[in-house]
Amino acid sequence: MTSPRTNGGADPATILVVEDDASLNAALAATLKAAGYRPVSARSAAEGLRWFAHYTPDLVLLDLGLPDRDGLSVIGEIRGRGQTPIVVLSAREAQAMKVEALDLGADDYVQKPFGVEELLARIRAGLRHGVQARGSAPLVRTGDLSIDLGLRRVTKGAETLKLSPKEYDLLAELAMKLGRTVSHKDLLRTVWGSERADIQYLRVYVGQLRQKLGTFAGEPLLLSEAGVGYRLAAIMA
Ligand code: CA
Repeated sequence: MTSPRTNGGADPATILVVEDDASLNAALAATLKAAGYRPVSARSAAEGLRWFAHYTPDLVLLDLGLPDRDGLSVIGEIRGRGQTPIVVLSAREAQAMKVEALDLGADDYVQKPFGVEELLARIRAGLRHGVQARGSAPLVRTGDLSIDLGLRRVTKGAETLKLSPKEYDLLAELAMKLGRTVSHKDLLRTVWGSERADIQYLRVYVGQLRQKLGTFAGEPLLLSEAGVGYRLAAIMA
């Protein structure tokens, strides 16, 4: 059995839950505890930031609709203190807010109502990223795909893929954020150098790249998050 720890040490990962809805907060805490994490609950932005400073959590689950402050401003404040992964809990209708949350430095989001498995998968991806941010991970693996960020080489099974420089840059950006959604704007900025570049370029390159990457065990490796961005699936082979 694998344990959801971040450091291989004896301590379970601490997860700060900032959610004002009391029943949802309690349910999240119970779920996290059952999955082997140490949850810390906060019901407002102020309480969340206080517990953030006190517990230095390994990951933050953040509701954007909080009673005392805009959840988006909490993202900025946490980013000002370091790279702790943040997974946003967002309402279905708040599409623009999701994009803004990612642009402000949130790692990912889950859309309410969400399933436990989806939530735990996002948390695992977030924690993995937190560990990578502290060290360097030049080799990224997912499914039968292996991306060597040092050598700029991509292999699928035994085959080396022929990618154009732009396709590679796009894949590298997604690989560095494996399992998390990267916004259109972020990709345009990092790959094309301007977030005002034509989103149509992105669609074309993603389409080509998706064909070259193919599937693993019948599942596509490059996923679209409608209206938000793209994600390279994190699949343990
Ligand atoms: Ca709320």
